[in-house]
Amino acid sequence: MTTPIVEMDGDEMTRVLWGWIKEILLEPFIDLRTEYYDLGLPERDRTCDGVTVAAAEATKRLGVAVKCATITPNAQRMEEYSLHGMWKSPNGTIRRILDGTVFRSPILAKGITPYVPGWKKPIVIARHAYGDIYNAVESRVQGGNSAYLVVCDNSGRELERKLIHGFKGDGVVQGVHNTEGSIASFARSCFNYALQNKLDVWFGAKDTISKTYDARFKEIFAQIYKNEYERQFEAAKITYMYSLIDDVVARIMRSNGGMLWVCKNYDGDVMSDMVATANGSLGMMSSVLVSPDGAYEFEAAHGTVTRHYYKHLNGEETSTNPVATIWAWAGALKKRGELDGNRQLAAFAQKLQKATLKTIESGYMTGDLVPQFKRRSITAMRMTTREFLLKISLELTGRRV
Ligand code: NAP
Ligand code: MG
Repeated sequence: MTTPIVEMDGDEMTRVLWGWIKEILLEPFIDLRTEYYDLGLPERDRTCDGVTVAAAEATKRLGVAVKCATITPNAQRMEEYSLHGMWKSPNGTIRRILDGTVFRSPILAKGITPYVPGWKKPIVIARHAYGDIYNAVESRVQGGNSAYLVVCDNSGRELERKLIHGFKGDGVVQGVHNTEGSIASFARSCFNYALQNKLDVWFGAKDTISKTYDARFKEIFAQIYKNEYERQFEAAKITYMYSLIDDVVARIMRSNGGMLWVCKNYDGDVMSDMVATANGSLGMMSSVLVSPDGAYEFEAAHGTVTRHYYKHLNGEETSTNPVATIWAWAGALKKRGELDGNRQLAAFAQKLQKATLKTIESGYMTGDLVPQFKRRSITAMRMTTREFLLKISLELTGRRV
């Protein structure tokens, strides 16, 4: 292994898993080279969040990163960790610096039946992580007053004024925006991801109702597809489809999966939780942030699993699912291997994923998966996290126990 991977350590139970995965599944098998950044909350506080920015810059420089889940501080965390500031979400900071798109994909194992039985292949969700209600301006409006949409030029001269609503009684108003630049880089990220992973692209919005805002999303996607991707899609035998969001939801439910579902910001927020839950557990959802200039940051979609961490601190052995974090490492090793032409490394990453799935499919798993496991003649056995990791390592070395 030549170029290092950017390693971002994190918090609570996932920080514990992180150490164990390295100890049991990585270091005995490969010469692991990383550039280490500690994104645990104490170190973020000590560096006034400088370490997060440094880790994101390193990802731009080296191209591949793997990130452990981290705490996004709130008032309660400020007290718990005696913080100097309420630091922003590290994921938000990294996303801003890399200008990336997040792709989330469930990890499927035989025997873990999705709640939607027709979903045989993963449904990958691409969420536009900029704008709409996440950068909205909102106000309460008193009855009798009116709200307007006003656009001004640089000098503040009014160019356009539209009545939103003349309020008879009290009400609320919201202003949202997006930029054509952000929509365009979102479109390119999605089309590139689809080409690399050979997936059809389904995009849904509501352009019949939102004739300017959502219509602009539709137009920009169509233009970029036609000018830059149509031929490549044809050659790869994949397709791009735009439809109304309600129609796309209905089609997704009827489908066998296996497509990239492109979602506007809010739709992606909601639908990725639905897809994760339908596939069993948050512990089985992987996530990757892809920047338009080709940097990758791999992580689990879940958080730091606080409830399990407090049990762990009390000396209890927990059964926390490490699969999404193993997937993050495997994703990073595979990508590093591909970029460096290091076939051995990429092959190890694949072997690690296979060994993990084989362990589950043979009936050995963490507690979250047990209720959903159904395989003829195999009974699910609940293991602690460490037992499960050791079982995977035995599968990796090919020994049977
Ligand atoms: P969470 O850590 O995802 O956990 C919520 C619950 O989901 C857990 O209590 C557990 O349920 C289940 N769960 C999640 N991951 C699991 C796993 N790997 N194995 C087994 N069960 C799992 O969400 P949270 O408790 O809302 O957030 C905790 C902290 O994580 C917060 O400080 C938040 O800021 C942070 N967070 C970070 C990220 C990130 O870095 N990407 C994302 C989300 C949240 P049971 O307790 O019922 O077993
Ligand atoms: Mg959500």
